[in-house]
Amino acid sequence: MRPVIKWCVGHAFNRGGNAETVTEHYLPYGSANSVLQLNLDHFCSYCEVFSSDLEVEHVISKEQDSSKKTEWNNFLLACGRCNGKDNKSNKHVDLDNIYLPHSHNTLYIFEYKEGGLVDIHPQVSHKDQLTKANALMDLVGLDKYPGNKKYPATKKHPLGFPENDKRWEHRRAAWEKAKRKLEAFERSEIDANTVAKFAQERGFFSVWASVFYAHPVVISEIVSLFKGTDTTCFDSTSYNSIPRNPKNTSDPI
Ligand SMILES: [Zn+2]
Repeated sequence: MRPVIKWCVGHAFNRGGNAETVTEHYLPYGSANSVLQLNLDHFCSYCEVFSSDLEVEHVISKEQDSSKKTEWNNFLLACGRCNGKDNKSNKHVDLDNIYLPHSHNTLYIFEYKEGGLVDIHPQVSHKDQLTKANALMDLVGLDKYPGNKKYPATKKHPLGFPENDKRWEHRRAAWEKAKRKLEAFERSEIDANTVAKFAQERGFFSVWASVFYAHPVVISEIVSLFKGTDTTCFDSTSYNSIPRNPKNTSDPI
């Protein structure tokens, strides 16, 4: 999951030719949508799909704490599927016991694999860290793919989850496209910037970062093209994913 850096309250930006600053509250909260997209680009903060139909996502749901309903610091962007009733919706979020893409390196905690599968990364091994990584995975159901034993088949849902949850399939398609671009890149038919532009039009940042793992020049281009990516989450030479909070001795992730 792409680690992003949210603008701070007071940050100056330009919207439609007008100079603005980020405000503490947005009323109605939907008015923050275009600001969020200027900050974080047109991608779901959770599944990373490119979408023209993103919603303002309340990390702490309106049901959990209505006082945060209009608070900029409580917003991300989400697609209807991640934010829908089968996934995040109004689930309770305990900020002390979960990783989130705007405060941790959420690329570091998940492993994206062939077929677009997602799992907890083996480099996450400490018990508390596993708890936080699993909390995010379960919050948005990113690991809902056919055959995952965590979601046993039922009469109503033979896949173990609603059939119209196609996130895994879109991720798989992105993986296949990224692999074809990798072959073309390694044959020197396309350059890093072309790969990154192609990725930006399709989304699924983590898929591209995983497929191009051995090519820091490509990851560097992707990181700079996807607006709002937190560059501190990447080693400046290898572009491998690194913990985001190194000064936090109890949990640097
Ligand atoms: Zn999503």
